[in-house]
Amino acid sequence: MSKTIIISNRLPLQISLENDDLKVSPSVGGLATGLKSFHRDGDSIWIGWTGLTEEEIPEHLKEDVKEKAKEEACISVNLNQEELDGFYYGFSNRTIWPLFHYFMEFTEADKEHWETYKRVNQKYADIILEHYEDGDHIWVHDYQLLLVPNMIREQQPDAIIGFFNHIPFPSYEVFRTLPWREEVLKGMLGADLIGFHTYDYERHFLSSVSRILRHQVDFNEVALPDRIVKVDSFPMGIDYNKFESAALNHFENTAEEQSELQRRLDHHLEATPDAKLILSIDRLDYTKGIANRLRAFEYFLDNSPRYIEKIRLVMLAVPSRSNVPQYQRLKREIDELVGRINGKFSTVSWTPIWYFYRSMPFENLIDLYTSCDIALLTPIRDGMNLVAKEYVATRTNHTGVLILSEMAGAAQEMNEALIINPNNFDQIAGAIEQAINMPEEEQMQRMKMLQKRLKRYSVEKWAQDFMKTLRNTKANRDSFK
Ligand code: UDP
Repeated sequence: MSKTIIISNRLPLQISLENDDLKVSPSVGGLATGLKSFHRDGDSIWIGWTGLTEEEIPEHLKEDVKEKAKEEACISVNLNQEELDGFYYGFSNRTIWPLFHYFMEFTEADKEHWETYKRVNQKYADIILEHYEDGDHIWVHDYQLLLVPNMIREQQPDAIIGFFNHIPFPSYEVFRTLPWREEVLKGMLGADLIGFHTYDYERHFLSSVSRILRHQVDFNEVALPDRIVKVDSFPMGIDYNKFESAALNHFENTAEEQSELQRRLDHHLEATPDAKLILSIDRLDYTKGIANRLRAFEYFLDNSPRYIEKIRLVMLAVPSRSNVPQYQRLKREIDELVGRINGKFSTVSWTPIWYFYRSMPFENLIDLYTSCDIALLTPIRDGMNLVAKEYVATRTNHTGVLILSEMAGAAQEMNEALIINPNNFDQIAGAIEQAINMPEEEQMQRMKMLQKRLKRYSVEKWAQDFMKTLRNTKANRDSFK
């Protein structure tokens, strides 16, 4: 019986140390929740890192880590601090991440990081090969593991391999600047099927393959000397039912069951019934356009002072990669902007921005999604942006307005949102004003359309579609033999 092997940088569970004991908790990211049911229901194993470095795990607990992972059908990849620094913080987050998001000025080309990236990719590939049996389907995820598909192919030429890239793929003119561009493309082309969130990313990848490697590209297929690689777009959805039912349950909560955050939000809504709450949630990352969003918000208040005391920006920034210098600088910039804007516009009874720098538990995210009239998401570049989709799924009374950057992959499927260019402050200010004044009937019309589409194309459907296409790719390959 064949199984599916899922591989991602991180496992869908997080193992941490508490008083010399191991604590296992589920990871919350989109990929983990998305593939969870697929992983649980099917015959599959998941290979990835646990979140603890080798140095952090005491010798006597090393076997236990393996066992804990195994209980959840997971295989742990052990990484030491040096590997993590070069592979994850180094090449993945200082080279691939900025380059693929068009931040060329942040992109480093450090040979040592590249060497570690290759070594760690090989480590993942070796563990996959240890568990691989004929007929298995292998599904590799994301930009940390670009070389893994070909590393498997070299050892197992007949393996069925899928690869999904969760971030943008940049245009050829940007991608060509990478010193190791050939190796990266060859690594990815080890797969039989390569998936992207949008048709544009797919197009950019194919263009790089044809110009850099000179392979023939026919529609969405790459002709290699010995096989065909299929490239396609599969926009990832969310666990729609989870968010919808959490929002419905949330409204059933008694006063005692409500969170402290919800009580504060309710207090605000009762004190100023005609004021609007504008929500923004992102990891604190330069791709998310948080500083620009704050400046656009300031621009709006400068130009439309009649909205002073009538709106409030609730901004959640989740700490991320805080040992990479650009992230530290951005944190300082945002702190200063929030301070300056609050200082400039606050009145005795009102501050324009509520700023949270932390991660919030799921129930608090639901509090924010359900309480805010408008979501303002303005990434400079974003592979997908799941927050936009989650906001829509929780609007069970169908009100609410989504303002979304055209640079987010999600914008391709969310036409009924107010789509903006994140660099155009006039347009953002216009969209904020339009959202504040949008008649409820129009809000509901737009929201219902968005919800219908998201409900249909859930994350389970995304995983099923990808796997179905992968199986067909294999069937086609056999019929040509
Ligand atoms: N999220 C979270 N805790 C928080 C804030 C957000 O788990 O405190 C989740 C959010 O629900 C969403 C994900 O983080 O599923 C962010 O995904 P998105 O695609 O928007 O951005 P990414 O961080 O993957 O670039």
